[in-house]
Amino acid sequence: MALPSPAPAGKTFVLSVHYAGWPGRFQSPYMPFLSLGVYASQANRYLFTFNEPDGARAWFPCNDHPRDKATFTFTLTVADDLTAVANGEPDPPADNGDGTRTFVYRMDYPMATYLAVIAVGDYRVIEETAEGGITLRHYYFAEQSRANVRETFAVTRRALDVFEQLFGPYPFDGYGHVLTPQGAVGMETQSMTIMPAGLANAGAGGTRIIVHELAHQWFGDHVSPDSWSDIWLNEGFATYAEVLWAELDSGQQAMAAALGADENQVLFSGQPAPLAQPAVTDLFGANSYEKGGWVVHMLRREIGDEAFVAMMQTYLERFGGGTATTQDLWDVAEEVSGQDLSLFFEQWVYRPDNPFVTLYWTPRGEVLACQTGVPFVFDLPLGFTGDRQIAPDQEALVTLAVDENAERAAFALHFEALQLWPDPVQNVLAWVQAQPVETLPATCP
Ligand SMILES: [Zn+2]
Repeated sequence: MALPSPAPAGKTFVLSVHYAGWPGRFQSPYMPFLSLGVYASQANRYLFTFNEPDGARAWFPCNDHPRDKATFTFTLTVADDLTAVANGEPDPPADNGDGTRTFVYRMDYPMATYLAVIAVGDYRVIEETAEGGITLRHYYFAEQSRANVRETFAVTRRALDVFEQLFGPYPFDGYGHVLTPQGAVGMETQSMTIMPAGLANAGAGGTRIIVHELAHQWFGDHVSPDSWSDIWLNEGFATYAEVLWAELDSGQQAMAAALGADENQVLFSGQPAPLAQPAVTDLFGANSYEKGGWVVHMLRREIGDEAFVAMMQTYLERFGGGTATTQDLWDVAEEVSGQDLSLFFEQWVYRPDNPFVTLYWTPRGEVLACQTGVPFVFDLPLGFTGDRQIAPDQEALVTLAVDENAERAAFALHFEALQLWPDPVQNVLAWVQAQPVETLPATCP
């Protein structure tokens, strides 16, 4: 690019890029599930974009990296029976008198390029005001049921209120959803989340994805990953927000079910890689999502609820409008808790594998926990139960401190144990295979 006159290094100047074209789509090596760029159909009269992680460059010139945030104004001219949607606050559409209308949206908060969106269709909108005064807009297709859309997205107001109390103030002016003609993907495009069209009829079945994308407005959009290696900071917190929502809206049992399902995903379908150094082909797998969520959960258990909330709020306040690294989260967690979290981050965030433990136990409360390789260090809660139909007090929750390949202990039980439940309180991401024996083996096999 030739400048009209040479600019000295370090000087700030304004560069206007005029770009025209027919943007398309491409297959990014970092997003195996769908191609990135512009989805459009002339016949069906729709258009929408999908950028994450590196597809913004398919439809506007940019430095397509989350660290290079900018404010945006979108000016969109479409046929006058269509509606255009984008990030930020809308001006009233202008009728051009030639069969077209022009929509202008302003995103006045710094936004990473992968969070930009435009969508065009024969949309209707439901507008409502959340408790804190934030305007919510849900765009759906004219042929869809307004009542169903209203029912599905009703959770948004409540979740926004709960998350504001947990995370701090909602970071943008308005929020909303735009339904798009695709089957599977929710995407936390800043202040205006893309959702699959079918969500209109999902009712309560849509709650999980709605709270996930809403939580991203804080974790991902307000504070963005400093590089794609930090993607677990996005997906871990958004996935854990689903667990938090289950806990706060439905109680402990719902929380336990969500955590249990996530743990199985990690242990049985994840591709082991360090959270903070994911494989480039697996940025959006069980590692970043479910393991990320579990590590956030374990961090909460490690530092306690009060420090956990302080950690989230400090992190969001400090890095809001910009980006954060894994190290930044580590530093804030240590700062607010006063704890040394080296071991925690080293083994859960920078180590690729997860603990697999064989646990031998006897009815008298003796245990031998066996791990191979470099042992993980953690406290493993163990729940012993006896015959609770005869005596309901025949239960005991004890803790085994594990830091060796062979960890042996004996717990004094006042009953004969019939069952052992490894980690019944869901403190540790670990696969524990419990094996009842009459006498403990002399050594680990
Ligand atoms: Zn997500």
